[in-house]
Amino acid sequence: MDTNQIIQQIQVSGIRRFDEAISDVPNVIKLTVGEPDLPTPEHVKKAGIQAIRDDWTHYSPLMGFSALQRAASQYFHQKYGLNYAPSEIIATVGATEAVATSLLTILNPGDSVLLPTPAYTSYEPIVQMAHANLIPIDTTNTGYKLTPAALQQVIQNHAGKPLKALILNYPTNPTGVTYTQAKLTALLAVIKRANLYVISDEIYSELTYEQPHIAFGTLYPEKTITINGLSKSHAMTGWRLGFIMAPQALINEMKKTHQYLVTSTSSISQAAGIEALTHGLDDGVKMRAIYQERRDYLVKRLSEIGINYVYPTGAFYIFAQVPTDFDGNSWQFATRLAQKAQIAVIPGSSFGASGEGWFRISYAASQSALRESMNRLALWRAQNQEK
Ligand code: PLP
Repeated sequence: MDTNQIIQQIQVSGIRRFDEAISDVPNVIKLTVGEPDLPTPEHVKKAGIQAIRDDWTHYSPLMGFSALQRAASQYFHQKYGLNYAPSEIIATVGATEAVATSLLTILNPGDSVLLPTPAYTSYEPIVQMAHANLIPIDTTNTGYKLTPAALQQVIQNHAGKPLKALILNYPTNPTGVTYTQAKLTALLAVIKRANLYVISDEIYSELTYEQPHIAFGTLYPEKTITINGLSKSHAMTGWRLGFIMAPQALINEMKKTHQYLVTSTSSISQAAGIEALTHGLDDGVKMRAIYQERRDYLVKRLSEIGINYVYPTGAFYIFAQVPTDFDGNSWQFATRLAQKAQIAVIPGSSFGASGEGWFRISYAASQSALRESMNRLALWRAQNQEK
């Protein structure tokens, strides 16, 4: 086929492929996609409806309505102490476009980007599209967190190569781990020495259960590109509204990438976003309490069933280990689990080679679905200790 070779080699993400593959299994409980099951808050929906009535249905300025930039500037300052001027914020088509615009703007062909793994699936394809190289840093032996020593080691191993950026994502998809201020500060020393950009994907910042979220942009404002959005904090995945926040000179460059990729994000979503950011400061806090209850329930049940997991302190995922008595890889395990126990989870290999042997449970699902899925898992394990 005479099409772009990089695109030919990229696949639709393992999350989507697996989700589609098991969709036909009758009566399956889906704990797959990372999508809040909770509704968008009523006041935010009303603002969207009102925007349509008021004919807010045309192009917006490229970077978003100035009222939205102002609202985002204030919200992220109040929430996390970030200091971005309204002009340093671009409203994007979800955090997904924010990732793409950031990487496509800073990377030259041949540059290298560091990524702690297992990791969310969107980063690598964009790095490839930019003709750059992704260097994974396996975190399986360090509690699924990047350590200064591991980072230093990888930097040394690639001395002389054009190392451009480190992608951080915390709370982390797929493991649910997050970082304390002390851990981030220790990483920062290494990052600064190597003069790396940090692309900090903080889309789960409202969902931390044991400690406050520390925004990387408060520690390293000069070279951090902060990515956030309303998909998870306000259950607004379908509205497609995210943000890139960065120093002005970088934003001026990103504005061009953003224009030629998407022009601007939906005007209606922006109106809803202004409402969410100005009157919905506590929306995410209420949702957090619900997710936390579910997390507590799941870790208890998994422990009882005898499944190992990484203790999650954020996001709405649990990364659990394929039982050692199962003879097969994580894709085969997840397929078997869907077919035999009617529970759908994501194979760990979807998050990179270092995720093999594990699987991801999303608890963005109702309490009754979680209860039923754990009952099914317990029964299946009891009946069928795989040989
Ligand atoms: N970044 C991470 C780490 C995610 O898990 C997701 C969605 O699951 C996204 C970005 C994409 O977010 P959005 O729906 O706002 O594009």
